[in-house]
Amino acid sequence: MAGKRTFTMIKPDAVENGHIGAILEKITASGFKIVAMKLTQLSKRDAEEFYAVHNERPFFGELVEFMTRGPIVAAILEKENAVSDFRTLIGATNPAEAAEGTIRNLYATSIGENAVHGSDSDENAAIEGAFHFAGREIF
Ligand code: ADP
Repeated sequence: MAGKRTFTMIKPDAVENGHIGAILEKITASGFKIVAMKLTQLSKRDAEEFYAVHNERPFFGELVEFMTRGPIVAAILEKENAVSDFRTLIGATNPAEAAEGTIRNLYATSIGENAVHGSDSDENAAIEGAFHFAGREIF
């Protein structure tokens, strides 16, 4: 059975460019309920741990640099089929390939600075949510 929760971050580029409100509006208008949310900033160590799966990739250093350069919005979202529906809503990793009207199509600037994160599995959604939030911050 598909899970009901996913984890997202509005990344530093979208926060810098003033898109927090528009992105949250699109998320809630698409039927996702916000069950945890905060404005926070990742340390280098946080970003290295969060993206550990990519640590052999050539863009890893650039990714850590980018994700730590300013505040992010972290949130846990609830909806039926949350992980897959949210991946559809955000669009492809590369905004040049993201479908019309998706969040990355509208707000991302490059494959690296692509405005939002969305978990890629129910298992990672749970791990990523627990990485950012204490139990009492999740509703
Ligand atoms: P997604 O975020 O769509 O699940 P990945 O898990 O493949 O994509 O990559 C994680 C993040 O790493 C991307 O969202 C993006 O910020 C960054 N990234 C991925 N590929 C590249 C690349 N070729 N160059 C720079 N940054 C990249």
